[in-house]
Amino acid sequence: MSRSTIDFGIDLGTTNSAIAVLNGVTTEVIKNTRDGAESEITPSAVSIDRRGNIQVGQRARNRLIDTPDDAYGEFKRRMGTDHVYEFRSSGQSRRPEDLSAEILKSLRGDVQQRTGELVEACVVTVPAAFELHQCDATRKAAQTAGFKSSPLLQEPVAAALAYGFQADRDKSYWLVYDFGGGTFDAAIIKAEDGTLHVVNHGGDNFLGGSDMDWAIVEQIVVPRLLEEYSLREFTRGNRRWSQAFAKLKRSVEIAKIDLSRSERTTLETCKFAVGSGEDIEFDCELTRGELLSAAEPIILRSAEICKRVLKEKKLGPDAIEKVILVGGPTLAPYFRESLAKSLGIALDHSVDPLTVVARGAAVFAATQRFNDAPTVALSTGEYKIDIRHKPVGMDSAPMAGGKVSGPSTQDFSNFTLELVNSKTQWRSGKIALRPDGVFFASLHAEGGQRNIYAIELCDPSGRKLKTTPDSLTYTIGAVVEEQPLCHSMGIALGGENNEYDRLFEKGRGLPLKVTRDYRTIHPIKQGQSADVLKIPVIEGDNERADRNRLVGTLEIRGESIRRDLPAGSEVEVTLRIDESRIITVNAYVPLLDEEFETKVTMKQSDPNPEVLKREFEAELQRFQEVKATAATAEGRSAQKLIQDVEASALIQEVKESVGAAKADPDAAAKGEKRLVELKLKIDEAADALEWPALVAKTRTEFEDLQSVVGRNGSPDQKAKAAELAGEIDDIIAERQLDRLRKKLEQVLRLYWEIAFAQPGFWVNQFQTMESEQPRMTDQMRAARLLDQGRDCITKNNFTGLQSIVRQLWDLLPKEIVAAAQRGYQSGLAR
Ligand code: ADP
Ligand code: MG
Repeated sequence: MSRSTIDFGIDLGTTNSAIAVLNGVTTEVIKNTRDGAESEITPSAVSIDRRGNIQVGQRARNRLIDTPDDAYGEFKRRMGTDHVYEFRSSGQSRRPEDLSAEILKSLRGDVQQRTGELVEACVVTVPAAFELHQCDATRKAAQTAGFKSSPLLQEPVAAALAYGFQADRDKSYWLVYDFGGGTFDAAIIKAEDGTLHVVNHGGDNFLGGSDMDWAIVEQIVVPRLLEEYSLREFTRGNRRWSQAFAKLKRSVEIAKIDLSRSERTTLETCKFAVGSGEDIEFDCELTRGELLSAAEPIILRSAEICKRVLKEKKLGPDAIEKVILVGGPTLAPYFRESLAKSLGIALDHSVDPLTVVARGAAVFAATQRFNDAPTVALSTGEYKIDIRHKPVGMDSAPMAGGKVSGPSTQDFSNFTLELVNSKTQWRSGKIALRPDGVFFASLHAEGGQRNIYAIELCDPSGRKLKTTPDSLTYTIGAVVEEQPLCHSMGIALGGENNEYDRLFEKGRGLPLKVTRDYRTIHPIKQGQSADVLKIPVIEGDNERADRNRLVGTLEIRGESIRRDLPAGSEVEVTLRIDESRIITVNAYVPLLDEEFETKVTMKQSDPNPEVLKREFEAELQRFQEVKATAATAEGRSAQKLIQDVEASALIQEVKESVGAAKADPDAAAKGEKRLVELKLKIDEAADALEWPALVAKTRTEFEDLQSVVGRNGSPDQKAKAAELAGEIDDIIAERQLDRLRKKLEQVLRLYWEIAFAQPGFWVNQFQTMESEQPRMTDQMRAARLLDQGRDCITKNNFTGLQSIVRQLWDLLPKEIVAAAQRGYQSGLAR
């Protein structure tokens, strides 16, 4: 059968993957058969032996421990980075997307083995927290695996589809809670008029079942092991003990799964060498209570993310109809109890949490048209039909249309076409084709099933003709809206403020395009290769530019411009992102009448363990400084923030991950992420310390402004000042430091605007210049200007005086602005 819709969906998981297909309206997960056992789940692991044979799935997963240099798992965590996996025995190397491609190929092979069908196109899911470069790598993996088309779908959307496909409900919110092996996603989904929208989402790429396993290993198992044996420097970051730790983690994971069913269990014996020919055989008892003590903080952390995601949309627990559970760990009853208690919302796990994403992907796949135009010439008598219709919708009598083309026929007058639903016996009746082969039909569809219509094409003599495709499908059900943007995105601005101009807010549908005007901060000399105007594109949701991820930079170099570009030049920046999440930055410089453009490359480098370590040390130092200041400061809030950080596991977590970074690139990536979290916490405390001084300064400056406005302000300026007063009060009430800083700038700007318009101001300035004369660079010119100035004053020529003062300013030695530019060294300002 040739398919007109994609129909297959793959959950390409960090730990496990699965493939499903939509048959009618029910989804079927296609099992793999390995070593005589069947499973709906394929572990996402790949091994290559010394002969170059590739193994995928459970066997490869087993090799992770026995031959760790020849097998890898959890490579989804490295997607989109330039990390290279070396397979020692075979001398081969693979990128993360190559390994993902092996998983996809293996799933494709399973379908062929089971059903004989070669899957040509497939929907592949990605976590909502996936960033652009990670989506891009996933798309490449699908290409490498040989799929001709592979739309990406966010995992929470897939899960919601698996639950809600046939549902036709009024406004209601669902929370998709997906706790996997290595990633966590929380997404609020709204079903309205048969359409699903993602309202908000959040997550953590470094939170999952594997973190529970490590917590048990480090907090429970290792201390016990060290009671029995004295092992030197037995830490996770120590390469020497990598295998021992891998074995412990594997045993702990099995025990953890056991504890989903029983109260206590014994750790499978771990055997490992301790040098000098000795072996250790270690096992111990583990109870559900112990497991919970290690796991609960992790579960609570995920619940906190859910609460934040809800709060961002001002939704209380009552607004959420149910929480859909996704991911292996949610199979455990204790996990669900703990989560339910913390969230206070009803949980639903009626669709298997391990395969719900693949099932939902298949549901979505059935809405995706797949027209694989045959590349070989059609054999005589065979006709191609280019079908135009929506395969899924809420309409029970949808329109379908298309265009028939054939190898020899030019004129289709007197040809007919009929659509037949063999199950319901519904027939469209014979429809006459237009001479160009175009036809339209109104279908009749039944709810609760997938309607398949056979296409019967007849020539003028009534002879049936063979067509590709030979059928079309339609299902009444919910449609997914355009896929939203995962993270906000915009331009990092230069200068002191470390400002982020957010051009796209997260959650917006694609494609997006925004144009903004900026000014350059520093001059660019034509021909000078060292002179660069950098326009950094960042993604994330933090107010401060350098606390977000740098996606890419458009660079305009002195070499590539025709004329000098003075500071303050206008630059029109356009940021675009298309449906496949390809980002383009374009800068138009009116002064040069030139346009510069770059496609942002979505690679991310592996974090450098040395740099991480240094940064971590610097942050610890900053933490101590802020702490010391806080101890003597008046307000309690900074102290409280400091205490919170100290009480949390954050510093410890950064320390562990950064410590393990050298031996384990996953730990490095996690360390990088947690380090940013730590920086933000310290920022918050530092802000709290700065707050009282900033409030005081804003108040004083505003009083000054008010007195000038009262004396000399125009009605417009008075209105502006009154508006500022209200805004300042609100911002102070909401304690928003960055916004208050901006308001202070506006207060000063308005103050100077009024001051500049007063003759007295210029007289005053002129007098200051007179006293500064000895420091001026060109004494002759200075003396001449001062004379002219005095003349202006006697003649009441204040416009002239203003010009004189400005020229005198230029004679004073320019202060060397050494203020090291922070952030991404942006060359732009508003
Ligand atoms: P991913 O989406 O990251 O591929 P999965 O949803 O397949 O992950 O979940 C994998 C995780 O689920 C692993 O950490 C595994 O230990 C855990 N897991 C699987 N089954 C169970 C179970 N019955 N009880 C508890 N944890 C489980
Ligand atoms: Mg998953």
